[in-house]
Amino acid sequence: MSDLVLPDESYAIMGACFEVYKEMGCGFLEAVYQECLEYEFADRKIPFISKPPLRLQFKNRQLKTFYQPDFICIDQIVIEIKAVSTLADEHSAQVLNYLNATKNAPWHTRKLWTSPQSAVQANRSNQLKSLGPAFAPFRVFRGQLRMSDYTTVIGLEVHVQLATESKLFCRCSTKFGAEPNTQTCPVCIGLPGSLPVMNRAAYELALKTAVAINCDIPEFTKWDRKQYYYPDLPKGYQISQFDLPMSDDGYLEISDPKGRFEPKRVGIIRAHLEEDAGKSVHDEAAGKADSEIDLNRTGTPLLEIVSQPDMRSSAEARVFLQELKLLLTYLGVSDCNMQEGSLRVDANVNLHIDHGPERIATPIVEIKNMNSFRAVERALDYEAPRLYREWQETGRKLGDAPKQTRGWDDVAGVTRAQRSKEESSDYRYFPDPDLTPVVLTASAVNEVRETLGELPAALRSRLSADYQLSAYDADVLVNQGRAVVDYFLAVADATADPKSACNWVTQQVLRELKERDQSIDQFAIPAPALAGLITAINDGRLPSTRATEAFQLMLAKGCNVESALTELKIERVDESALIALVQDLLAANPKTVADIRAGKLQAAGSLIGQAKKQNPNVDPNRVRELAIELAGKDDA
Ligand SMILES: [Zn+2]
Repeated sequence: MSDLVLPDESYAIMGACFEVYKEMGCGFLEAVYQECLEYEFADRKIPFISKPPLRLQFKNRQLKTFYQPDFICIDQIVIEIKAVSTLADEHSAQVLNYLNATKNAPWHTRKLWTSPQSAVQANRSNQLKSLGPAFAPFRVFRGQLRMSDYTTVIGLEVHVQLATESKLFCRCSTKFGAEPNTQTCPVCIGLPGSLPVMNRAAYELALKTAVAINCDIPEFTKWDRKQYYYPDLPKGYQISQFDLPMSDDGYLEISDPKGRFEPKRVGIIRAHLEEDAGKSVHDEAAGKADSEIDLNRTGTPLLEIVSQPDMRSSAEARVFLQELKLLLTYLGVSDCNMQEGSLRVDANVNLHIDHGPERIATPIVEIKNMNSFRAVERALDYEAPRLYREWQETGRKLGDAPKQTRGWDDVAGVTRAQRSKEESSDYRYFPDPDLTPVVLTASAVNEVRETLGELPAALRSRLSADYQLSAYDADVLVNQGRAVVDYFLAVADATADPKSACNWVTQQVLRELKERDQSIDQFAIPAPALAGLITAINDGRLPSTRATEAFQLMLAKGCNVESALTELKIERVDESALIALVQDLLAANPKTVADIRAGKLQAAGSLIGQAKKQNPNVDPNRVRELAIELAGKDDA
């Protein structure tokens, strides 16, 4: 791999070139590469960078956020970029001809390439950003640039606290926030002689989730003891599921409305039930530096969902988590509150590096302690280049080093080594003799399947197909949860105007809910009333210019649109009355008439304010039209 020396000024152009590379594929690149070699190395007449002042729109750091670390590139691309960005006119014409002859070249590619200057322009208008998934980050050393040549491989482990009243193997409450150690009993603190009894509700919630993420449900599953010692685990083992989990081999489909990656199916290796451990509370205030144990959480039911390493960027990981959370919310199996620990995420990440003819996998790292989806994204963006540097320094491959656990420090924005991960054999799993295995029939599983209801993916499809909503609008609505979708459906069905219904719900209604920190069922305007407002606009009884006023009054008073129209004295303005009004205004404003007659039509705008003062219900556009029309007549 050879590094190339590049002046800073070339970065903006490179952004454009990467997009072209994506759109055109390698064939194009190789062709330009040949030309490039010829120009650059053979006759040396073409300088790297064209005339100086090429203004830069972004530098390496921002570029990295534009382009997901996902795509394997090689050094040729870098060479090609410089060549194209520096060609003299007749040479760039050749390249442009080549580009234009390439099939499926999208317009923006051609536009970008009319000149280096226009590529800079495109960066400025953020066109590149909208072009979709992209390219490996590249590193800039001092004056040097090199494409990275790795793929990031990500798998996630998600622990979901199931929304049961009581714990998995005893009757203690699972309520969050109680005084420490007030929700415990001999079973969950592991006193000798106590016996666990499985919570059927927890099992049903887990089963519902497993079916919804398309898992196979075996007829037979059992409980195992996972042995380890930790102060917050009083029994000295955790009841979990080892070799015969309650479900395996599922998947979740993800797609990105922002277009950063193609829709894909992320495999689910398994989902199994286990009990949670307690919490260690480290109190370092006032120099006390003591640690306390709270066992309230001990024994709370957790569903552990383990994905295949199918994700290739932090953006994919984030969308996977968002989609999973949405699904869990629709199913009602968890409140998914990350702050309270109801949803916890660990990420397994390594790199696949193309090194000469070889593809190398690096050792796997598990990242913990990420308290938001944003933190997951940031941690992965930090970890991938770190792994690459580590590989460059040590040359270590998968199998050369044990799996390492690293903790994410959200404030410092770095991961830190914690420990080497135990292998499962270290846990000395064995079947729990106190619990009977669970046996399920196929018909029981089918019954669960029938209770799932309409899930987010199906709902999005229905909104697009039956209500002609864009993928984006459908996504916004579905992501708000089922109650908001039901509200929208009620408005859309009552008005037969889904587009307006969607606009009102996703804009005004959601904004008001957010400002008031309310849920949709607390909202003061019920769906039929909002439908009435939309119908009044569509009937012409409510001018769209006064719709917001009416909406606000309905919100404040909880009234219907008819009362709002009466109270705001909104009524349809009769055309003859409007003509008379405009005629009066023209008579009172001879200068405006003269201006309009002289062709300064914008002068008509000055009458709108006066007309609205006399009658707030006038349609401003109609006032303008009439003013121009009537002023043109001699008798005006
Ligand atoms: Zn208990």
